[in-house]
Amino acid sequence: MSRPAVAYIRLDAFRHNYRVAKRMHGGRALAVIKANAYGHGAIQCARAIAEEADGFAVAAIEEALALRAGGITAPILLLEGFFEAAELPEIEANRLWIVVHHLWQVEALMAARLRSPLTVWLKMDSDMHRVGLAPGIYRQVYEQLQQHPNVAQVVLMSHFSRADEPDSGYTMRQMQTFRAGMAGIAAPVSLSNSAGVLGWPGAYAEWARPGIMLYGTNPFAGQQSGIGSAAGASLRPVMQLASAVISVRTLAAGEAVGYGGIFVAERPTRVGVVACGYADGYPRVAPTGTPVAVNGKLTRLIGRVSMDMLTVDLTDLPDAGLGSRVELWGDQVAVGAVAAHAGTLAYELLCNVKRVRFAYSDTSTKEL
Ligand SMILES: *Cc1c(COP(=O)(O)O)cnc(C)c1O
Repeated sequence: MSRPAVAYIRLDAFRHNYRVAKRMHGGRALAVIKANAYGHGAIQCARAIAEEADGFAVAAIEEALALRAGGITAPILLLEGFFEAAELPEIEANRLWIVVHHLWQVEALMAARLRSPLTVWLKMDSDMHRVGLAPGIYRQVYEQLQQHPNVAQVVLMSHFSRADEPDSGYTMRQMQTFRAGMAGIAAPVSLSNSAGVLGWPGAYAEWARPGIMLYGTNPFAGQQSGIGSAAGASLRPVMQLASAVISVRTLAAGEAVGYGGIFVAERPTRVGVVACGYADGYPRVAPTGTPVAVNGKLTRLIGRVSMDMLTVDLTDLPDAGLGSRVELWGDQVAVGAVAAHAGTLAYELLCNVKRVRFAYSDTSTKEL
């Protein structure tokens, strides 16, 4: 017997979603598998598409070296580049691609002694105002790098801050800023994250950088706008976080359950206790009413989530009981819906999954 909390990772769904992203955007696509593939397992996800992926993107060299050690030979882009110049020899030795987003990196790269030149993704700050070079100096820096012996090729990139807001107009403005800043440069371009792929065809270029959509989450889900919904609907959830009911009791009206007694039964209420809690990554702040599926039927979380357990309402599910299967998120309960109840995003919930057993499957290797 072991604890029934399991994250099922369906690698065939991951592969399917990569194909959706690539087909929709056209050109080439870096699969963004930073943060251990948003909590899904970077090596497993990378291997699942190793034969067809144009490349991968991670946050930093540590993540890239783990992929190289795992046998991944495709290009790997470091999305924040290097944090200190001392990383450059290892970047070169492992044939990693680097984002250059700050002038100190430009200077360090040009001052480095390298045997072979590096592929550089030169990032412009097109009004997200987090990282990236100002549009006003972009072309000049591009020309410096492009002529420098340490640089093999330069890809022009920028990142959207509000691409998941269909009506904001901000994304159009970012595209204009980017186009103006790169005027006169002929080089490959990369703008689109998942929301860009799903919602902003005007930003399509040589390279896409899809992340969250590869895991089956449409960043537009739950919004009124139809943008991104058609392709978004064909995405398949990769992770199913599941567990089981380990205890059942019936509360009388007026009785409370769990820490703080924040849920008080208004009628006789059958409560199922599920082996999953915030130490597994289920959000503690999820309130009563957050959806959960038991034996394939939707019901609700009740009371406070504790470290190892949470409680669900079985009153209207007479067939459910000890041992019943519970889906915390996955196919019937979108991780984004749980996130919305908890006041956060699918990104954060997926990245937070831990302690549970991870079970990988890959059924449809022939699917196209
Ligand atoms: C994380 C990241 C992405 C992927 O974003 P999603 O919203 O998950 O698709 C793309 N580009 C950069 C620079 C990133 O940091």
